[in-house]
Amino acid sequence: MQRSNRDSPDPSAELVLRGGTVLTLDEEDTRGTAIAVRHGRILRVGSDADVQSAIGRRTRVVELGGRAVIPGINDSHLHAAWLGAMWPNTVFGETGAGDGGPARSDADPHDTSASAPLVTTHQERRDAILRAGELIASLGITSYTEPGIGPGEDGGATGCFSQSVFEAYVELESERALTARVNVLALFGVLDGPSTLHGFTSGLRALERDTTRPTWLRVAGVKIFADGIPPLRQAWTTHSYPDGSTGDLLIAGLDRQEREDNLHRMILEANRLGYQVGVHATGDRTIDATVAAVADALAESRRELRHYVIHGDLVTPQALERMAELGMGWNVQPGIAVKTAAWLGSVLGESVAAAAWPLEAAARAGVSVSLSSDAPILAPDWRVGIADADAWMGPVPAGAREQRMLALLRGYTTAPARQDGAEPWKGSLEPRKAADLCVLEADPLNLTPAELPEVAIDLTVVDGEIVYERQPASQR
Ligand SMILES: [Zn+2]
Repeated sequence: MQRSNRDSPDPSAELVLRGGTVLTLDEEDTRGTAIAVRHGRILRVGSDADVQSAIGRRTRVVELGGRAVIPGINDSHLHAAWLGAMWPNTVFGETGAGDGGPARSDADPHDTSASAPLVTTHQERRDAILRAGELIASLGITSYTEPGIGPGEDGGATGCFSQSVFEAYVELESERALTARVNVLALFGVLDGPSTLHGFTSGLRALERDTTRPTWLRVAGVKIFADGIPPLRQAWTTHSYPDGSTGDLLIAGLDRQEREDNLHRMILEANRLGYQVGVHATGDRTIDATVAAVADALAESRRELRHYVIHGDLVTPQALERMAELGMGWNVQPGIAVKTAAWLGSVLGESVAAAAWPLEAAARAGVSVSLSSDAPILAPDWRVGIADADAWMGPVPAGAREQRMLALLRGYTTAPARQDGAEPWKGSLEPRKAADLCVLEADPLNLTPAELPEVAIDLTVVDGEIVYERQPASQR
């Protein structure tokens, strides 16, 4: 990583990119041809002439030559330590989709056939995080959420979600070795497994939330695994599985009412303590219970904590309306929709599968939709995520293509910035916001989403520093 001298009194920019397209993704969708960066922040966006005066002797000038600058990508649900330990394997890639569906180990990583943990030592945990960091920098990703790390996983099968992983993050951050901004959801319980009200509340009360530089490493809140996934008949739903069952909650409790009450109490407690809650909820009944609990929590104390539903496979239009009213977000993986729809259809019927993951309805309802990879369930390639989301949403009239692309790009930039409570300073390219950006080989607005995966990522900048630069073919 290049380091520049930030104490320099030189008023000129450290980095200028010009001669291309700059998609700011600000409220007005302003576009420019050039952008200037100083002290880790955006100094100016405009025409090439607008940034000319910011170019000094020490400014690095990148000639875009028609290439495009977009805000840095925020993969808002990405298990980086696990990804780094597994790559180049992914859960889907390893087993191959299309034969009734892979054993999705996000549903139960303890069910993996591998007996030895993927990482066991401090060095291996550091290496896994750094390895994922290198990979995601090459994909233009400048922020991510590590969704679920905590003491309940200290003896976990993979070793990738333990409290020691958080300690490795703290250490890497203190060494300034992270190349992406990291938000962490704490986990009190087992990944994709049960949790108890007592373990949750006592863990949350003892949680050390302060980090040295929260813009780089932040404990955002807490993850709750409310239910499993529909293809494994674990989602709690109003529909019926072939055996007549309807799924259930993962939260401990003597009966369903007590489990639901405990989920409710967990959400109220987290809200009271000022923690964001990300709830892994796939069944419509689980989502309804989550939304009802968030409504009660906000009625008790209205806070801008940006609680959100993760996955949300069977979310109903009514739940989406309510989520919009409550300011709740939805974190969804388009690739999981595309890859598991047939599998879902085989257990709950074609019509349920066709109505699942209603991305368009969410947009109409005004829910802030963050798109993510859930890597290493899927590879962390947001370009494929955009193509998958577009395929899932279906054809769009020719006149609306540009709006579709912009909306999908927002799912990886401005929407997750909102999830992070960080929209005042990241997610779009505006003066004084963080200089987190990604340079694409071509302007995405001249492409269909299906073409996007072929477009190379040329440059990734985080906090004004270049963390990835594609080598020209001759030098590779
Ligand atoms: Zn996940």
